[in-house]
Amino acid sequence: MASYVGRRRAPKPRRGRARRAVVVLTTGALGVVGAVATSSAAQSSTTTHRDAVAGMAAPLPVAFTVSRRPLPNLAAQAAESTAAVVERTRQSREQARYVASRRAATRAALASPGRQEEKKRAQDAARTVIAERTAAAARAKKVAKIHRWVLPINHPNLSSPFGHRWGRLHAGLDFSTPVGTPLVAMSSGVVTKAEYSGGYGLKVEIRYWDGTVSYFAHMSELSVQEGDLVAPGSPVGKSGNTGNSTGPHLHLEIHPEGGDPVDPAGWLAAHHLNP
Ligand SMILES: [Zn+2]
Repeated sequence: MASYVGRRRAPKPRRGRARRAVVVLTTGALGVVGAVATSSAAQSSTTTHRDAVAGMAAPLPVAFTVSRRPLPNLAAQAAESTAAVVERTRQSREQARYVASRRAATRAALASPGRQEEKKRAQDAARTVIAERTAAAARAKKVAKIHRWVLPINHPNLSSPFGHRWGRLHAGLDFSTPVGTPLVAMSSGVVTKAEYSGGYGLKVEIRYWDGTVSYFAHMSELSVQEGDLVAPGSPVGKSGNTGNSTGPHLHLEIHPEGGDPVDPAGWLAAHHLNP
């Protein structure tokens, strides 16, 4: 080492190209020495390294930056690069194998008899649900149709309200109408009376599906008898002027749950019927 330092301190001005080559080689050697010193951490090597650094710190007659660059170890780089490529290839092959195995497993699961059976069961269950919903909707529609309410008379002409009149309760509504006007059931139910009944004259009583009972009085003609089933709008007879009546009309009474009569006006409004 001492000889290098000495040579750099006393450069020969002639033969410049050769001198630069020597400096490059020398600095490369210094780099190697430095690397050895750093890796081994031995006291003697460290000392050598320090000496070398001290030598490099001395002013050089040529461009120092060029000579400080470590020489590339091309063989080591090539080996490292090859190893990296091999490793990447191995990883990508492994990944491809994994993906292929997952796909195969999925295909096998989908094609297995158990899976097919499960699929069929799910489809059957879905069909059952749809069928049940359709049936429920049809039932609801049918019930809505069965449970709907209609007025007993077309073109009702209200002539007398519910309330006390001449000292006694007029327990229904009067609809003035010519004798022979068709009267219909107000909803689904059963005819509980169809007979002549004193001051009511010819009368039809119907108990509907919700327990409400209606009276149609002063009729001229009956087309149902006790026990008949009726639907909303089905004919029960014709209006008239029988019993205690001062003119052709329908006398309508409403008895919720078959109890005391209520004002039919409020009851009809509650059932969206507007005479
Ligand atoms: Zn009346």
